[in-house]
Amino acid sequence: MRLSKLFMPTLKEAPSDAIIASNKLMIRAALARKISNGLYSYLPLGVRVLSKISNIIREEMDAIGSNECIMPILVSKELLTPSGRWERFKKELFRLKDRNDVDMAMGPTHEEAFTITAQNEIQSYKDLPLTLYQIHTKFRDEIRPRFGVIRSKEFTMKDAYSFHITKECLDKTYNDMSRAYTKIFKRMGLDTVSVKADSGAMGGEGSEEFMVLSEVGEETIIFCSKCDYRANVEKANVKKDDEVKSYTDKPLEEVNTPDIKTINDLEKFFNTSSKNFIKSIIYKTEEGEVILVATRGDLEINETKLSNALGGLDIELADEDTVKEVTGARVGFASPIGLKKKIRIFADYSIKSVADAIVGGNKDDTHIKNVNIQRDFNIDVWGDFRTAKESDKCPECGETLYQKKGLELGHIFKLGDKYTQAFNFKVLDENNKEITPIMGCYGIGVNRALASVIEQNYDDKGIIFPISVAPYEAIVVAIDKEGEESFKKAEEIYNALNALKVETMFDDRKERLGVKLNDCDLIGIPMRIIVGKKSLQRGVVEFKLRSSSESVEVKTDEIVEYVKRKKEELFNEINSKL
Ligand SMILES: [Zn+2]
Repeated sequence: MRLSKLFMPTLKEAPSDAIIASNKLMIRAALARKISNGLYSYLPLGVRVLSKISNIIREEMDAIGSNECIMPILVSKELLTPSGRWERFKKELFRLKDRNDVDMAMGPTHEEAFTITAQNEIQSYKDLPLTLYQIHTKFRDEIRPRFGVIRSKEFTMKDAYSFHITKECLDKTYNDMSRAYTKIFKRMGLDTVSVKADSGAMGGEGSEEFMVLSEVGEETIIFCSKCDYRANVEKANVKKDDEVKSYTDKPLEEVNTPDIKTINDLEKFFNTSSKNFIKSIIYKTEEGEVILVATRGDLEINETKLSNALGGLDIELADEDTVKEVTGARVGFASPIGLKKKIRIFADYSIKSVADAIVGGNKDDTHIKNVNIQRDFNIDVWGDFRTAKESDKCPECGETLYQKKGLELGHIFKLGDKYTQAFNFKVLDENNKEITPIMGCYGIGVNRALASVIEQNYDDKGIIFPISVAPYEAIVVAIDKEGEESFKKAEEIYNALNALKVETMFDDRKERLGVKLNDCDLIGIPMRIIVGKKSLQRGVVEFKLRSSSESVEVKTDEIVEYVKRKKEELFNEINSKL
């Protein structure tokens, strides 16, 4: 590609609303432009990077026997209803109506469309397993789009769905996917961490997230300082706290606590640490059961763990009326002592370490002191229901945990029969009996992967693309003007490289050399060849890797072979890590 023809409006400065490096550099290097809040257009260089990333994904998906399809972006209410997602998706779903007043949405993911596609064609176990995927546009009405293409309203995703008769068969595809994902991210030159987690529905290790460690990540990953344990904070376990503190056996005492609204207020009022409180929250499950969950005052209840303990039921905080009915008080005074209605009480292990605890009084503006959990409580379900945090102890080895921010690039998940059940999808097994297939689903955020490649590969001059995803592999810069002998030589080298399948750009613009070199650094092309009359007189041209600060002189008649060899070396470097 000749730069004189290329639409590449690079910028000296990033717009002021671009905060993070990848967002700034994508705009400055003319990969993308913001069109409106949370919506980005891609320019030619950006399109090339996206398509290289997509191709790496496509090659690895195809290599494990996945089949590429394309589903409609629009999904109807009818399609999203059996799974309950039309209702469950709240405002993040872009909803619209067609001219006949039929409810539709812009697809946020495509479980339903793929399930029905498989269901329409598959009747027998002989046709399974089957894995389908697409690389396509998704929509989510983000509350706060930010960080450029990392959290936008429209984005490209690879989403794959597999169908199986047996759990073992699903396990195999799931493991193939896990390996393929590791390979995909390495081929892009990305350092990722994979975080295994319990998926609830299927039990065991049914979910794995692939993240890059990043300050702009919205996930928190818990790591053990000693062993390999790591998990998303939503699911991270902590060492069971079985150590029961000794109690003084003082009698319970009601204390009037007016104007107390927060744990902070309570700490001040009682002049003690929040660790001496037991807080109780009333929840309601999707089946309508009301439960109380108790944890130590300084800890947060983890709704994912709680939901898993309830067999994957959705839960939400109980409304004020329910709280009043169950406790007899306003929100904020619940406890397991003296409830007005018999409900199940779930307790996090952490409350075992609270002696002479302070709890709510199940009465407005009232708390109770000197609570002894063995004497005064009746716990129905003990468990790990709280969010892990730094300085907690590892569930595997007992050492201290720490946390880091992560950005999720990929997620693989054993879905079980959630969607196949919902659609009443059956196939005949070996004995001609109807059986419901089980599914796995597997996603990769394509635009996020692009932003992450930049986040991990840049310096103060611009992007340093790994060769596998660079928009072009080499750039030939002509120092002299068109018409001069040296310009012709540069053009010759450019043509020769392209003929050898080295994707090469030619900076033939009527610009100062400084401008050309700044652009080279900014857009991050891995190999640069400068051709000017002075060096040509000595029979050499200048070669430089974007990743290196040193340039070398290469004999003019050897440069084409030299670049081709370098290209192979750069690819070998990436492939050696696979
Ligand atoms: Zn550990």
